[in-house]
Amino acid sequence: MWTSLSHNENLISDLFNVALALEEPWKLTHIEYDDQDESWSLFIDFERGALFPCPNCGAACKAYDAEKKMWRHLDFWNWKTYMHARVPRTHCKSCNKVMLVPVKWSRPKCISRWTNATV
Ligand SMILES: [Zn+2]
Repeated sequence: MWTSLSHNENLISDLFNVALALEEPWKLTHIEYDDQDESWSLFIDFERGALFPCPNCGAACKAYDAEKKMWRHLDFWNWKTYMHARVPRTHCKSCNKVMLVPVKWSRPKCISRWTNATV
């Protein structure tokens, strides 16, 4: 059964925040866990109006739209861990292109760092 944790008052959310090392404007907004399935679901989001660097030229851009995605993260404390986030696309005025913002938890090179961090 999925149970929600309130992120303001929970030590576990602090631990995930440290482990994920999220950078602005990303925030861990919600955590759920399933003790039958032994899994965590981490919900990550950004604030309305947040600016993201254009993947091409680095100019600060607002989100144009966003796509909901889910990733399997490395396990935390031997529980399966899923991450859920809206990944924004930016419309850069300098490049005149709509591009998906890269998120660091979907980059393989960060996964090895997490492997070390979770031992
Ligand atoms: Zn650009």
